[in-house]
Amino acid sequence: MTESRCLFPGPRRYRALSAYLLERFGCKVRSVTVDAGFTCPNVDGTVTTGGCIFCDNASFSPNRRLPRTSVTAQIDRGIAILTRRYGAERFLAYFQAGTNTHGRLDKLRHVFAQAIQHPRIDGLIIGTRPDCVPDPVLDLLEEFAAQKPIWLELGLQTIHDRSLEWMNRGHKAEAFFEAVERCRGRRLELGVHVMLGLPGESAADMLATADALAGLPLHAIKIHHLYVVKDTPLEALYQRGQIAILQRDEYVSLVCDFLERLNPEIVIHRLCGDAPPAFLVAPQWCLDKAAFLKAVDRELLRRDSWQGKSYREGISTRRAVIRRSLPLVSAATNQDVRAGASHPG
Ligand code: SF4
Repeated sequence: MTESRCLFPGPRRYRALSAYLLERFGCKVRSVTVDAGFTCPNVDGTVTTGGCIFCDNASFSPNRRLPRTSVTAQIDRGIAILTRRYGAERFLAYFQAGTNTHGRLDKLRHVFAQAIQHPRIDGLIIGTRPDCVPDPVLDLLEEFAAQKPIWLELGLQTIHDRSLEWMNRGHKAEAFFEAVERCRGRRLELGVHVMLGLPGESAADMLATADALAGLPLHAIKIHHLYVVKDTPLEALYQRGQIAILQRDEYVSLVCDFLERLNPEIVIHRLCGDAPPAFLVAPQWCLDKAAFLKAVDRELLRRDSWQGKSYREGISTRRAVIRRSLPLVSAATNQDVRAGASHPG
């Protein structure tokens, strides 16, 4: 259904996480990052080695840059910092680094129980891969969800298998759709990670990813742009001039297009990626997140648009499957995609 009026009061014309949490919990809620030491099947050889082309776990988890402590100790430390810095009152434990369901069931139980039982934690956010959530893991998470909310975040990045192959993702898009179906009806709040600006994907290709998410039982989304972190295979491509990174204004326009197609109910956890300055190679514009978010607000206002304005509820999963089987809309050849030679803009 296409929305004819903006559903979001205030400057943010989308369902921003901070506003959603305030509405749900009635106070300032922040996520405490926890690193439970999980590796990744894409790194340890279970699926492949080398990891995703853009990935350096140390760059996106503050705790992986510190000596490892217990889950409880990490939560206590994080709460102290977030209370002092932001006046946060309630907290979610965010299992961010690595693939947080890649382990034996008894380890998963032990790790998540520490967070669930922490008196100041009101829910868990668990980041993982769609090929790493077998039914026994989902059963376990549902057991915990009876006590506190569980947000399960699945990394999709894109519905285009050739892009997934280019980034050495180690799974196809179908793994995501299959995981979502197995989660359907369970007491889990599902989130998805997507990435825009992948070489070889045109704007139409990227928006096809947004359309494919319509009709799925998703609660939240994190949208990232392709950004380059030091000492990754992506950095080597970037330094050789084999990939281009979106400029801020290009990305702002793309993000607004993407938001317009999303279900207005989906909570927007993120609109761009970031990395600490010491790790980030490009682009530099994402270091000024406040300016980026203001630019998105301005662009939506200029268009008189909002999240869900062109959401097509009628795109069923079956139609999405048909769309997924289509080739990339862009003229890039498979070889172009692998070499990162084509710019999506
Ligand atoms: S699946 Fe996640 S943790 Fe594993 S290599 Fe890719 S981005 Fe990194």
